[in-house]
Amino acid sequence: MINLFEPVLGEEELAAIGEVFADGWLGKGKRTRAFEAAFADHLGVAEEQIVSVNSCTEGLFLATELLEIGPGDEVVLPSVSFVGAANAVAARGGKPVFCDVDADTLNPGTAEIARRIGPATKAVLVLHYGGCPGDVATIAALCREHGIALVEDAACAVASRAAGTACGTFGDLGVWSFDAMKILVTGDGGMLYAKDPALARRAAELAYLGLRQLSGYAEAGTRKRWWEFDVGPFGRRSVTNDICSAIGMVQLGKLPSFVRRRHEICRRYDARLAAVPGLRVPPRMPPGHESSYYFYWVRMDSRIRDDVAARLHERGIYTSFRYAPLHLLPAYGAPRPELPGTERAAAETLCIPLHHGLDDREADTVADELAAAVAEFGAARERTEP
Ligand SMILES: *Cc1c(COP(=O)(O)O)cnc(C)c1O
Repeated sequence: MINLFEPVLGEEELAAIGEVFADGWLGKGKRTRAFEAAFADHLGVAEEQIVSVNSCTEGLFLATELLEIGPGDEVVLPSVSFVGAANAVAARGGKPVFCDVDADTLNPGTAEIARRIGPATKAVLVLHYGGCPGDVATIAALCREHGIALVEDAACAVASRAAGTACGTFGDLGVWSFDAMKILVTGDGGMLYAKDPALARRAAELAYLGLRQLSGYAEAGTRKRWWEFDVGPFGRRSVTNDICSAIGMVQLGKLPSFVRRRHEICRRYDARLAAVPGLRVPPRMPPGHESSYYFYWVRMDSRIRDDVAARLHERGIYTSFRYAPLHLLPAYGAPRPELPGTERAAAETLCIPLHHGLDDREADTVADELAAAVAEFGAARERTEP
């Protein structure tokens, strides 16, 4: 099977794990601090604005907690979002207000977000579909104008920039994922950025039981009753560890080459697929936007899309549609807003394999099989419905 996503790990990551074993310190320690500092540097922000966590989902839950989202508060987010983003709002009693996306880019436009902002809106939560920044800069300006928070789910956008600014750092809070399906992987893991370092400190406290250490390990022996502590906020335990961080440090060093390879595959797909009748390739990004190339997606007639996906699966090619619209989930559905761009995109779009381990031959197989399936089912449909 040619997979949709696949991590690429090598000897360097194994060696880094070996060093952690040799240290004998597996928990959150110096390697996690080093990874946080390197990630802050990669983004171009201060170390005190970055907190590592054990998943991006946890980062999203921390974000809604830091913003004190509660009953009666609305958060505007695209229906095409990771389910954890809406869960993070609803779990606190807040109301996710789903907005539409552009059917080509699968990102929401600024005007669409503006239309959904009302007196109860406390925050806007956007992602960068497939790694493309979208209108994040103007959405950030809109949020500032309204005095509401912007959270960026930058899980797809680990290396994405708009006019030189890293995605995830346009708003008040940003979160990244390093789970096994992402570009930079650590097994499980994530990062949280807070524009306000005080919020980052609070996130770090919440992620470690709310502990306010009165002394601790470092002061053992030099201070009486070093085991006593107090808690501030009633936190959980969602820290990462030095094994994951050691892997992350190596992967961060390889990130530019990962993104270069992904970009090459996208160009190869474009060259083979752009002229295929009945198929549309992803739109060009505006100048100044840099993608991480997390998804490659195509659009086709909705009446053949599912047959094409099934045929590709038969041929050993895994495809999917990310992210199934949340406003159609029974749990989130009532009352159902009209989101025509979202519904069109969900019916016509297919994400095809894209990872930096894919070789040229595999990419060409994917493109050729896709083109053949579109031609076959497209012709069959024309015969039955002229
Ligand atoms: C993968 C993903 C997440 C979740 O990340 P985890 O680290 O697995 O919790 C969140 N948002 C988006 C857009 C994602 O693609």
